[in-house]
Amino acid sequence: MIVMKFGGTSVESAAAIERVAGIVKSRLKRQPVVVVSAMGKTTNLLLTIAEKAYTGDRDEAARLLEELASYTLQEARPVCDEADWAEVSGFIEAHFQELSAFLDELVGIGEFPPQYVDLISSYGERLSSRIVAAAFRHFGMDGVHVDSREVIVTDRRHTQAAPLYSRTYAKLEERVRPLAEAGRAVVMGGFIASTQDGFTTTLGRGGSDFSASIVGAGIGAEEIQIWTDVDGMLTCDPRILPGGHRVKIISFGEAAELAYFGAKVLHPATVVPAVEKDIPVLILNSRNPENEGTRIVAESVPCANAVKSIACKRNIVVVNVQSLRMLMAHGFLKRIFDVFDRFQTPVDMVSTSEVSVSLTIDNTAHLDEICAELRKIAEVSVDSSQSLICLVGDNIRETPGLAARVFGSLRAINVRMITQGASLLNLSVVVMDADLKAAVEALHAEFFTTLDEKVFEA
Ligand code: ASP
Ligand code: MG
Repeated sequence: MIVMKFGGTSVESAAAIERVAGIVKSRLKRQPVVVVSAMGKTTNLLLTIAEKAYTGDRDEAARLLEELASYTLQEARPVCDEADWAEVSGFIEAHFQELSAFLDELVGIGEFPPQYVDLISSYGERLSSRIVAAAFRHFGMDGVHVDSREVIVTDRRHTQAAPLYSRTYAKLEERVRPLAEAGRAVVMGGFIASTQDGFTTTLGRGGSDFSASIVGAGIGAEEIQIWTDVDGMLTCDPRILPGGHRVKIISFGEAAELAYFGAKVLHPATVVPAVEKDIPVLILNSRNPENEGTRIVAESVPCANAVKSIACKRNIVVVNVQSLRMLMAHGFLKRIFDVFDRFQTPVDMVSTSEVSVSLTIDNTAHLDEICAELRKIAEVSVDSSQSLICLVGDNIRETPGLAARVFGSLRAINVRMITQGASLLNLSVVVMDADLKAAVEALHAEFFTTLDEKVFEA
């Protein structure tokens, strides 16, 4: 058994769904359980529509809902059998009527209670999973739909619910596993779940990867495939520097580090259930299905290269805090971090000296207030338009002379800040945005001119 997860773009249209059906069909022997996101931008749209309703713009909400309904019907039609269409279109229409009734309850109440956020956003995956199951039948498979809300059980933290694993795994084992073993192409919606007493919940935005990982762990899948629109992870961010090499295999720790520092491919927390059961997670490209993608595995992978990949975050801000009072004092760092905490601003990177601290942030919504607070206890300066470059690799901790290679290759560039992450598998530097491309180019040439072909595609 394998789990195959397809995101919103992979099911955004009739043509995209047909592509998905082709990919699944060619892998039927492996007994796939398919997890899908909502079609295209449906989740965002549903939330916008709800916002129109609760802020009192019922007409605009109704108009947008109508548009979403016709888009859904229009893309579903070509992928459904004549014989199925009455049922599928009836289902879609009934769901939009329900949605419209819920929106009526929200009109003008001026807020969006979290139970309603979950209820309304759940329709995206409820619709897409039904439609994809019907499409599988249309394309000659034995497609069967399972409502994820009947098998994935969570706590009551609406919009960020956490699975109750043992119950969920028992239900997956009982309901989903036998269907897959019987050779049926099971389709489930990602992102959605329910509480023990049956209230609809969601696992948080982008939660379908998490769903796939939960389902894989619950049915004991041999592999979890996350189908996206890139060929897996690369040795550098293609938006900054084209021509990177595909990383064929990477450890969970490395993948998490990369995701944290800007690689948008996968949220690290989502693969935890898979890692716990030692199930590999593959990143694959639905527009290039023969490519073998990136395999994420629990253990670290022997590799002749010191670095696996270079991630970057553009447009970050460095906040420098300096105070003579810090000399020999304790509790100073705590006071500084308390300020960032109070304004709910995550700090990515920190470096300290005896009398100063530099921190980087990428959320600048509260920068002015943060600086005003910090100025009460220290001198503060801010450097904007900076970039964080992060070298990731399990070997970093054991490679002597690595820092010398990093600085040697960056000799023409002004490096603003340096840290070796506490995880020991990353080494990060901050440079000006204007120097980012040149810096990544130099580092990439230094670390990826010769490649371990077991790990990288040449
Ligand atoms: N449809 C949900 C979202 O847009 C979940 C997902 O796509 O993973 O956040
Ligand atoms: Mg996604």
